[in-house]
Amino acid sequence: MAIRDNRLTDEEYARNFADIHPPFETRDAALVDANRCLYCYDAPCTKSCPTGIDVPKFIKQIVTDNLKGSAHTIFQSNIMGGGCSRVCPVEKLCEGACVYNLMEEAPIPIARLQRYPTEKAIRGKWPLFQRAAPTGKKVAVVGAGPSGLSAAHVLARAGVEVTIFEKEPKGGGLMTYGIAAYKVTPEFCAEELEYILSIGGITVRYEQELGRNLHLADLRRDYDAVYLAFGVGLARQLDIPGEDHAGVIDAIKFIYCIRAGSYPAVPVGDKVAVIGMGMTAIDAATQARRLGAKEVTLVYRRTQAEMPCTETELNIAKADGCRIVWLAAPKAILADSGRVTQLICGEMEPGPPDASGRRSPVDTGRTIIFDVDMVIKAAGQIPFEELVAAEGLEHNKGRIAVNQAALTGSAGVSTATSIPGIFAGGDNVNGGKEVVDAVQAGKDAAAAILNFINHG
Ligand code: SF4
Repeated sequence: MAIRDNRLTDEEYARNFADIHPPFETRDAALVDANRCLYCYDAPCTKSCPTGIDVPKFIKQIVTDNLKGSAHTIFQSNIMGGGCSRVCPVEKLCEGACVYNLMEEAPIPIARLQRYPTEKAIRGKWPLFQRAAPTGKKVAVVGAGPSGLSAAHVLARAGVEVTIFEKEPKGGGLMTYGIAAYKVTPEFCAEELEYILSIGGITVRYEQELGRNLHLADLRRDYDAVYLAFGVGLARQLDIPGEDHAGVIDAIKFIYCIRAGSYPAVPVGDKVAVIGMGMTAIDAATQARRLGAKEVTLVYRRTQAEMPCTETELNIAKADGCRIVWLAAPKAILADSGRVTQLICGEMEPGPPDASGRRSPVDTGRTIIFDVDMVIKAAGQIPFEELVAAEGLEHNKGRIAVNQAALTGSAGVSTATSIPGIFAGGDNVNGGKEVVDAVQAGKDAAAAILNFINHG
């Protein structure tokens, strides 16, 4: 594997990383789909959205040409409704719940419709929200990802002065650094961030990292409350021989390099194996192909029935020419002169169900050998256990413990940590879910924080 500048032409990079889900080109095109909505009572699409967006309402507002109202309906529940319309696995959320599925007809394209007014609002800088009068309260948010931004926006609207501390030089978190660029472009991430911050009352301080140049004790002293929303980010290791060879990289780092740098400068092999079958594995595999890799093989130790990614994601990988090998478990990575040459896998067969209910793979004793010059590991992410422990927070294997339900503002949702005044939510609590779940966690935390600083 070697960096080869200009592997592809600028036009090819532009084409390969162009928006995979183009928006409606005309109002009429949007109306054709919007007019199919049945405006269901107790709408299942809304109930299946973690942020509870009132889908029939925003669709009706599109139909009546009330695009500002439509955008407001979406943003009121999910200030990242624009980004979520591009990255949500809607086939297992709102669109998967649409009643048209029961009639064996195509569901309403809710994501595409949601994108229509939200993009107009973001591009047009529509001022849809007003800040309440300043309360004199100050809250620190650690992490400018979906959860942190969502919390900050709710708090700013309530008149709180918010300071976000972000370890990267740009905000957006996973949206900016951890998702395939053809799903959510860098330009859109920047515009969405700017739109969220335009409410006022939110300051972002970049390159501030908890445990390095930022500490909880200082934040707790200087602010009325603190919200921890720094996510998960450490790649799970495979614990097989050869993981340290040149040409082996974890998927999070690979995607980060693509999102933080320029496409020609990101090293990619000719023959790439990607280990894993989650969304991150798919994003790594498809982007390796789009960067110019000739062969990309996704290797998964279970069967398609157990894969964590959605069918839609799998189809993107297949459409990009990625090969899928099921029931292959990595055993070793071989190298010549320090550079990767082969991935050795054990051939598996489905065994009895494990604790998760999925059939566990059983080694057949046979071996599959892949000739490769790059291996991308996408075996999941683990929490920042050392950091969490060092800052004195109670935790469960690195996931921050939130258990003081009495301090929260919404029944049944707990965001208060073991340290009074410090709240946590999103991936650093649940271990990693969808962007839309992180947005909701931010809303829950903001409600709890408002309750704490106003009545605590
Ligand atoms: Fe409209 Fe489908 Fe939602 Fe019913 S379930 S309100 S048809 S989008």
